[in-house]
Amino acid sequence: MFLGKGIYLSVRLETVHNRLVYKAKSMTLTDEIIKLKREKKAVILAHNYQRPEIQDIADYVGDSIELSRRAVEEKEAEMIVFSAVDFMAESAAILNPEKKVLLPSLGARCPMAQMLTVHEIKRWKVLYPLVPVVLYVNTLASAKAYCDICCTSANAAEVVNSVNAETVLFGPDRNLAEHVQRETGKTIIPIPERGFCPTHVLFQPEDTRMLKTRYPDAVSMVHPECTVEMQDIADFIGSTSQMCRYVKKSNAETFIVATEEGILHRLRKENPGKKFVLAYEDVVCPNMKLNTLERLYASLKEEKHVITIPEAVAKKARKALERMFELKN
Ligand code: SF4
Repeated sequence: MFLGKGIYLSVRLETVHNRLVYKAKSMTLTDEIIKLKREKKAVILAHNYQRPEIQDIADYVGDSIELSRRAVEEKEAEMIVFSAVDFMAESAAILNPEKKVLLPSLGARCPMAQMLTVHEIKRWKVLYPLVPVVLYVNTLASAKAYCDICCTSANAAEVVNSVNAETVLFGPDRNLAEHVQRETGKTIIPIPERGFCPTHVLFQPEDTRMLKTRYPDAVSMVHPECTVEMQDIADFIGSTSQMCRYVKKSNAETFIVATEEGILHRLRKENPGKKFVLAYEDVVCPNMKLNTLERLYASLKEEKHVITIPEAVAKKARKALERMFELKN
């Protein structure tokens, strides 16, 4: 539809106006959040996939386990606002039973974590009674309570190697399981059979190949939750924290990144001279993005939504997490 020059100008002015209003509102919110945070002795932890404005206001930005560790180290804090998804806030609550742990958006639930129920774990344990169970931290507390040890995407191979068995039950991500099998040479039985991250499976090798023709010197970094086909064409496979470290050390100038788009904000901030291209446009985890500045503010102000884990479950899940921490990683 053709718009006259006058209408076009007025639409543009309206857009600029809306942006300025939004910016002013976020500034006020940011100030309010900082004020509340001090008053309540709270610490704000934000996952690498959070919105830029949340990453910018957070005390720490990192992957789930970096943040949970951070939460333990924050001795002075009485409250933790964990801007991420359910299982991460749960881990923080398990590791910090004396602190109040808040999740800004109660709907921020990881679909992959929901794929592995206690019932499913029990079913596999019956089939393989002597085989140890290693679970990715991307699981619910109730599932963690039924495993021998937890792992992250950064240390999964190391954890599996530490287990005194040649066969391991591993869940819930089948792609990470395949990566671990390749790295360790052990027999990895994925539980459930086809657990996956709906966000990471969106990356397809043909898009990366196309980007490589446009950026021939670019290095491709692939998260192990991506498909095996994506892992096969990667120059580097690693977790978000490993990607951040890898970029800092690398002499490359351009990176094709196959993980959720939120990481680009951190990568660009930490490496202003380097170029980052998402391996497929707009790959977003909608669950992570449910946390907004407004919800973060409401969470702090009204002290919601408190994450509590029954002590009987927390005790067992804590053991599985602590066993992982005892390994050097
Ligand atoms: S990116 Fe995938 S694994 Fe991570 S929270 Fe989203 S759905 Fe879950």
